[in-house]
Amino acid sequence: MTESTTPTPRSVLVTGSSRGIGAAITADFVAAGHKVAGLSTSGGAPEGALGIACDITDPAAVEAAFAQAEAAHGPIEVLVANAGITKDTLVLRMSEDDFDQVIRVNLSGAFRCAKRAAKSMIRARFGRIIFIGSVVGLYGSAGQVNYSASKAGLVGMARSLTRELGGRGVTANVVAPGFIETDMTAVLGDAISDKYRSQIPAGRFGVVAEVSAAVSYLASDQAGYVSGIVLPVDGGLGMGY
Ligand code: NDP
Repeated sequence: MTESTTPTPRSVLVTGSSRGIGAAITADFVAAGHKVAGLSTSGGAPEGALGIACDITDPAAVEAAFAQAEAAHGPIEVLVANAGITKDTLVLRMSEDDFDQVIRVNLSGAFRCAKRAAKSMIRARFGRIIFIGSVVGLYGSAGQVNYSASKAGLVGMARSLTRELGGRGVTANVVAPGFIETDMTAVLGDAISDKYRSQIPAGRFGVVAEVSAAVSYLASDQAGYVSGIVLPVDGGLGMGY
């Protein structure tokens, strides 16, 4: 590796680090030599990361978790807002609670973490905020009015943060995965999985490492002029949306 591509070790915070995409992102940052804190309700995180139990819907818990991460690793320089949930059902059956819970975790939780991280990023005149959205944020999805609204909201959030903080060396982007093999998609069942697979130009679901690679790029020093984008990792499913 040449000197110009050696990554600067950063203080990184990943939400939803215990499983799936967040665990892969956390492990890859650790392997690249960064100092990584991982938040999840269970407190789990891959080896080498500081696992912190935190429900991101609780403002006091988020503040305490950031304080713990910063005491160990210094001010957060890279935030990956990945924690997310689904509560799928058709719109006429979707309760207020089904809607609110998904928004509270996926959108308000991401906002809370981004706001907290932005403070020190502005001071440092460096920051990388990466939201994990979804192909359905822009494509739409029957049975996911709550979830797709939350993921579309992240696009507006990243673009508004870009306009507010772009002059301070802070970037904000969305990585939009398609169908990725994790606990979230394991519940779909063979018939539904096959139907979705037939619509994906790549002809397969993605793997967590493919999402993590996109996140690593957006977090890198080399991506300092890339902000406000939606980077799909979806095998071509969402092309044009
Ligand atoms: P998983 O269900 O495998 O993992 C979800 C993670 O989020 C877990 O670590 C969980 O922690 C954490 N989490 C959930 N609620 C909270 C909360 N209130 N506070 C803190 N942490 C929380 O999901 P995936 O890895 O599949 O998905 C990760 C992200 O990628 C999500 O935002 C999802 O919407 C998005 N995505 C996933 C796709 C896929 O096909 N898998 C496709 C497109 C987007 P705990 O272990 O404690 O429950």
